[in-house]
Amino acid sequence: MFPIEKIRSEFPILKTKVYNKPYVYFDNAATTQKPMQVIRAITDYYEKENCNIHRGMHYLSVKATEAYEESRSVVRDFINADKSSEIIFTRGTTESINLVADSFGKKFISEGDEVIISVMEHHSNFVPWQQMCLERKAKLKFIPLLEDGSLDMKAFREMITEKTRLVAVSHISNVLGTVNPMKEIIVHAHQSDIPVLIDGAQAVAHLTVDVQDLDADFYCFSGHKMYAPMGIGILYGKEKWLEELPPYQMGGEMIKDVYFDHTVFNELPFKFEAGTPNVEGVMGLRAAINYMNDLGMDKIGAWQHELLLYATSKLNEIEGIKIFGTTANKICLISFLIHNIHPYDAGLIIDKMGIAVRTGHHCAEPLMEYLNIPGTIRASFTFYNTKEEIDRLVVAIEKAKEMLF
Ligand code: PMP
Repeated sequence: MFPIEKIRSEFPILKTKVYNKPYVYFDNAATTQKPMQVIRAITDYYEKENCNIHRGMHYLSVKATEAYEESRSVVRDFINADKSSEIIFTRGTTESINLVADSFGKKFISEGDEVIISVMEHHSNFVPWQQMCLERKAKLKFIPLLEDGSLDMKAFREMITEKTRLVAVSHISNVLGTVNPMKEIIVHAHQSDIPVLIDGAQAVAHLTVDVQDLDADFYCFSGHKMYAPMGIGILYGKEKWLEELPPYQMGGEMIKDVYFDHTVFNELPFKFEAGTPNVEGVMGLRAAINYMNDLGMDKIGAWQHELLLYATSKLNEIEGIKIFGTTANKICLISFLIHNIHPYDAGLIIDKMGIAVRTGHHCAEPLMEYLNIPGTIRASFTFYNTKEEIDRLVVAIEKAKEMLF
């Protein structure tokens, strides 16, 4: 039995009422709620350890530095990286991808080169590549989709040329829920010595991620989508790539020695961590990983899958509903439209029923253009959600339909 009641009691925000109704939170793909263990890790840090790290020789500064570096090892184990120095703390997925696009672009991309992404990418894994390619006069190519919202792998294989320098694809789509065949993509790209960056923002809270097994060159994710605070995230990079890339930002900590006319940069991972980092975020991230590990990623995955099956069958019973993303291999996230009702109108009524769903383009405007729709309503579940909450969503959708259709 999944200990759902105990788990729910650990997330204080789930006791909130909105419009006098118990709050149903189905916007987990945007950000997850935080358990007490994570909230306490942050307050504990400020109450007992707060100091700037890597700088002071005094007692608490050393303690805070140790806790920060231990957390790096916890992240390394969480994604099974080979070395802690391959783990860079960033502000989140967006900053991780910008770092690679900027540094990799400067070093390895020139006129006429090609970068491959897919049409399903979040703007965070789209705009940095688009802008870098525009600046460097390189060509950005897009893997198309099949009807069910999976990547057209045949098209992908035909896209690689001797000019391809990098492939950047999301592990899981934040709009369709599709889990992409990353291993297959990586094996194919590596046959031509092309590195692959994975946008793992939606994956880390749903799958056990093993960067060595994937053989990923870069893997990016955000803490706030996996029960940790906002403003903290990870860039994993294989040592050989991180060694080659130039630093992204300049300042304190990323230097070894500074002279009037030049600077010697610090070793990994500090070369990419300029300035005072988000230490409280790192403490929260460590607590969130421990929390997920204690629950067990297998158990989390099994409950999330049960919710997906339940919600899919219940929503499919609603007349006039169209679900976008129908592959079997998807996470518990359902994007849909009802007849020709605009997602914002439906979202407003669903909100008034005390249920938080996301409406709009979900930071994937090119995908909306590709699918020729204005946006979708997205309900994204996680392990603290229940089947009763899904039943309430069904009632709310029926109500929206009754009022708007
Ligand atoms: N990629 C995907 C697939 C996402 O879902 C998101 C967040 N919605 C991001 C990137 C960006 O993450 P962040 O805003 O935490 O940097």
